[in-house]
Amino acid sequence: MGKQNYIHCPLCSRKTKVRYTAKTALANYPLWCSYCRETIIVTFADNEIKHWQAITKLQPPKIYISQPTEGKTTEEIKQQRNQAETHLKDLYENPIFITSVRAFGFTEQVGKKAEVLYTAKSIEQLSQADTAVFIEDWRNDRICLVEYHVAREFHIPLLFSDDFALPWTT
Ligand SMILES: [Zn+2]
Repeated sequence: MGKQNYIHCPLCSRKTKVRYTAKTALANYPLWCSYCRETIIVTFADNEIKHWQAITKLQPPKIYISQPTEGKTTEEIKQQRNQAETHLKDLYENPIFITSVRAFGFTEQVGKKAEVLYTAKSIEQLSQADTAVFIEDWRNDRICLVEYHVAREFHIPLLFSDDFALPWTT
């Protein structure tokens, strides 16, 4: 993954919990500083903050978690999801998690039609998101890949578990 650093808060210059690599690019990303107790909207590229704006009364961000479901039990899916939500609460101020249809009963449905239907429902939920977070081995999951392409094409801010300074990313 290469060398990693932490993004520093543009207000107080202290480290936030968001890591970056040379390849990291964030557009209008809501950066939470736990020292300032403030959310700062940042645009980040080429190892630096290009633009930022502090927003004191920001609407709570709506977060869509894209997580692999193929070959996993409902119990495993819920557990990974809960873990991700716990860590994301450190990165965002009062985040609202969009309840994913995939977290509940997806693995009990089989067949192409059910999978396409779940993909459609997932994209419908993704449309409500301020940020899409991709966790675990999402690159190996077909629906996650569709979600990734939709989020990227329609400029929904993306966040990857690889970018977090968190134990569940290792
Ligand atoms: Zn700060």
